[in-house]
Amino acid sequence: MTNEQLRQIRADFPILTEKIYTKDLIYFDNGATTQKPRCVVERIEEGYYHLNANIHRGVHYLSQKATEAHEAARSTVAEFLHAGKREEIIFTRGTTEAINLVATSFGEAFCKAGDEVIVSVMEHHSNIVPWQMLCERKGMRLRVIPINERGELDLEIYKSLLNEHTKIVSIAHVSNVLGTINPVAEIIRLAHEHNVPVLVDGAQSVPHIPVNVVELDADFYVFSAHKIYGPTGIGVLYGKENLLNAIPPYQGGGEMIQTVTFEKTTYNELPFKFEAGTPDYIGSTALAEALRYVQCIGLDTIAIHEHGLLTYATERLFEIEGMHIIGTAKEKSAVISFLVGTIHPYDIGMLLDKLGIAVRTGHHCAQPLIDSLEIPGTVRVSFAFYNTKGEIDNFIVALKRVVGMLQ
Ligand code: PMP
Repeated sequence: MTNEQLRQIRADFPILTEKIYTKDLIYFDNGATTQKPRCVVERIEEGYYHLNANIHRGVHYLSQKATEAHEAARSTVAEFLHAGKREEIIFTRGTTEAINLVATSFGEAFCKAGDEVIVSVMEHHSNIVPWQMLCERKGMRLRVIPINERGELDLEIYKSLLNEHTKIVSIAHVSNVLGTINPVAEIIRLAHEHNVPVLVDGAQSVPHIPVNVVELDADFYVFSAHKIYGPTGIGVLYGKENLLNAIPPYQGGGEMIQTVTFEKTTYNELPFKFEAGTPDYIGSTALAEALRYVQCIGLDTIAIHEHGLLTYATERLFEIEGMHIIGTAKEKSAVISFLVGTIHPYDIGMLLDKLGIAVRTGHHCAQPLIDSLEIPGTVRVSFAFYNTKGEIDNFIVALKRVVGMLQ
């Protein structure tokens, strides 16, 4: 990416010129949520100003236009994930709701006492708790893949965990704490040898890595719009058609039905069977806009730029005495978790904030991982394509100052 390209991209994100306590904002909390380009916000505005009517039901012009836009957004998402059929794309409220949907509906259809679910130690709470709830409901067991000292999954132990009781594997494509890019194709291949389906949590991968759900042979793949420059409150569940057809609806209500009588209700076909109630039809079109924006820059260009930021920031962080980087996987996304000496991560985060720098501190909703590493949490910087080496330079100056104050 040339400097001129980067300048133009940054100009698309008005928030990047904000002052925080009179300082230039440096936004390094992209793993939590990304900033929104003008085109996404304008799409939301256009939706509410010019295209707003409830979808799928109305015979009138606006309703038809809104329905077309929502369904076109579904096709955009399907193309983005390279899904075989657009009906395999279900809009949800986000990654969390998508995982809850699968844990509930798949669990209802296929799981019983004594069965097992495999997750990994590096999962976000949203890929642990729904499975734990299923295990409690059904009397099942949660099995956990550990990691090595670099923060990579132990595939040998994973293989030994797969057995005739395993009903599903649910795994992050990219860890939101360690940045590890997990070998999901291999994980899926191994599970399929046992006829076990795999859900991939793509919350931290889709903004950074091209994803092809058919090539991966993923059974379910989920992500949130807000982490890929889209709006909050909407996300995606991709599921293979045969699996989505085989599991019951998650919620009941309007839209997901074919016929309703007090004696019996029949359910709508895919994807509507899983979309009870009025969907976020403005959010879906804004998500599609965000995906087009990302594709316009190109995920390959994004990956190269972000990898450059990761390498540069990692090198520069080691200028700081006592620097301990948590997560040094060979395959790593642009996320760096670190600690400095015995300084509490929260103190570093608070002081960086006063200098206009937004980082994340704490357990990052991955408490079991943080506990297993026996640390109090981490400071996490996570980059997006609009971040620059200049911002990293300023961050390093600020961090040196903060560490000097806290030592
Ligand atoms: N999984 C991972 C790996 C995440 O990083 C996050 C968000 N931090 C989630 C799931 C949950 O996403 P959401 O809150 O958008 O549902």
